[in-house]
Order: sequence, then structure tokens, then C-alpha cells
Amino acid sequence: MRKITRIISILLCFLIFSGNMPFVDSSATAVAVKKSSDNVVVVIDPGHGGVGGTNEGAMYHGYIEKQLTLATAAAMKQTLEQFEGVTVYLTRNTDVAMSLADRAQFAKNVNADFLFSLHYNASPEHNIYGSEVWIPSRGNLYAKGYQFGTIMTAELGVLGLYQRGIKTKVGSKGDYYGIIRNCTLRGIPSVIIEHCHLDHGVDLQFMRGNNPLMQFGYADAIAVAKYFGLRSASLGLDFSDYKKVSVAAPKNAIPHDTTPPEVCTAVKKSYHAGTRTLVLNCTASDAGSPILYYAVSFNGGATYSVLMPWNRFAQNADITVKVPDGASHVIFRAYNQYDEFTDAAPVLVN
Ligand SMILES: [Zn+2]
Repeated sequence: MRKITRIISILLCFLIFSGNMPFVDSSATAVAVKKSSDNVVVVIDPGHGGVGGTNEGAMYHGYIEKQLTLATAAAMKQTLEQFEGVTVYLTRNTDVAMSLADRAQFAKNVNADFLFSLHYNASPEHNIYGSEVWIPSRGNLYAKGYQFGTIMTAELGVLGLYQRGIKTKVGSKGDYYGIIRNCTLRGIPSVIIEHCHLDHGVDLQFMRGNNPLMQFGYADAIAVAKYFGLRSASLGLDFSDYKKVSVAAPKNAIPHDTTPPEVCTAVKKSYHAGTRTLVLNCTASDAGSPILYYAVSFNGGATYSVLMPWNRFAQNADITVKVPDGASHVIFRAYNQYDEFTDAAPVLVN
């Protein structure tokens, strides 16, 4: 009898603690339309964690991505919890390794409305800077990701970071990035927020400011609060009337751009020998994605300048460059949103 009582009490505990939490198959409620009065469940996923290899994430200039994401997530949670009607979970609170499937399953278990995976970036050539948001490639999850991405890139832009945009990437198994693919499999909206590049000086200036991780976490939280139309009496913020952009849900996957810019040309507009100042008229465009940066080379393409921001809405611009001593030609190079580039024919300086 005592044994039975114990089993019953264990069962009761299990039922109480599992309330709206794990073990409950939430597939039926996940697709239900939420009323505005309903509580929003947000899962923040601090990218990476644990020891060795990709668990550490990007490591440059003393920064370790897995630590940055955890600190940013804590700041994001702290801010978000000051809003009403939101429950916030972290996939990990400590420096532990966790599979991408387990992170997505955690979100499923708590009946998450959205999973936000926080990351810090680096590029193979260490030449790229800026923020970007990766989203699911199709359907309703694309639309939700894009809506959030619009808000998120605006918030990071306010901090001064260059915005590389809202992007999809498709692989052989569906969405290329595992956390997005695993969340999509479970019907959970998800995005990856790449805050900045740890291997580039342009972005590192944003890491050296006043409590930068707090600022990033705050920006993330505000974007989420706007997305869900949340209100905070303690912060004096009310986003209940916030209007999201309307985004259609594509039936087929929105592919990523795998080809370099189709158009890239440069012609000399003027040259001032005294100051060695050259003005080039440059044209660059790509049907698959916007042009984000340009660079120039004065040594036949051996090395290039730091990437400069290109007005992504324009196809043509005058650029002014200082020609180094001894240089006879300049090469203009344009980069698209996926960092594919095309060189224009060399231009004779004088
Ligand atoms: Zn990462």
C-alpha cells in the first residue's frame, strides 16, 4: 500500500511538473491561432556550448562565441521578462554541448511560439563585416522569419552595425542550417541572429563599447517584443499596436544566390594627378541578391582594399579612390549578399 501511495505521489508530481511543459504532445495546439491575450512562449538558444571544435564557435581577439551567445541570451531574457504575457526559456544556461535536434526538441516540449538562435560570426577570408538574420526558406515559417528579420535588422542597424540582410540557405536536406531545419521539422518558427563578425575591425568597434553584449541582448529583446506586440509597464514600452510588414508565405523554397554578380563594370570619370585622386563610375547588379560591398585593387588583384558599403538599392555609383604611388591600374570588385564577387576589367589610372 505504501508503495502504491508512493507511486501515485510520484505520478502526481510528474503530472504537476509536466503541466504545460515537456512530455505533452503539443502538435495539436502548435498550429492553433493564438489569441492576443494568450501567453507567448519564447525560446532563446545561445549558439554553441561545450568543449572543442564547433562547440566553441568563432574565436578571435580573445572572444569566444559560446560565451558571447550565453551572455547575450541572459541579457535578452532579462529584458524580455520585463514585458507582460511572455515566458522565456533558454536552451542552455551553462557551458554545455547540446545537439541542434535537442535544442529544437526543447522548444517543442515547452510549446514555443518561436526559437531565436543567437550567434556571432566570422568569415573565411576575414574580410566581411555586419549583421545578418537567417530564416526558414519556405511557407509560413519563412513569412514569420522575414517579418521578425525586418524588425531585428532595424534594431541592429540602430546600434550602427552594417546590415547584410535577411537570408535563406537551402541544402540537400532542406534548410541548410541545422537549428532552422530541426525547428522547421517540428513546426516551430526559428531564426539565427548573427550579431557581428569577431574577425573584422569594423565590427570589433561595436564589441568594445559600453557593455556591448547587454546592448545586443536588449536589441534582440526589443525586436521580439515588437514582433509579438508586447507591453512593459516597468520599461514604459508598449508595442501592442506595432505593425509588422506583410509577407506572403512561399509554397516553394526561396533559394539562396549561388552565383556572382552578373554585371560589374568601371570606367574612369576623372583623375587628378596632383592629389592622385581617381573617380570611377561603377555599375554592379545581381538578379539573385543585392550588391552589399565593393573593394578595389591597385596591384592586379593580388590584394584588395577593405570592403566598402555599396548602396544596395542602386546599380550605379561614383567612387573616389586615392591611387598609391606606382600603381597604373585599378580593379573594381563587387560583392553580393552571399559574398560572391565579380571583378570589373582593370581601368588605366592615367
Ligand atoms: Zn555560431
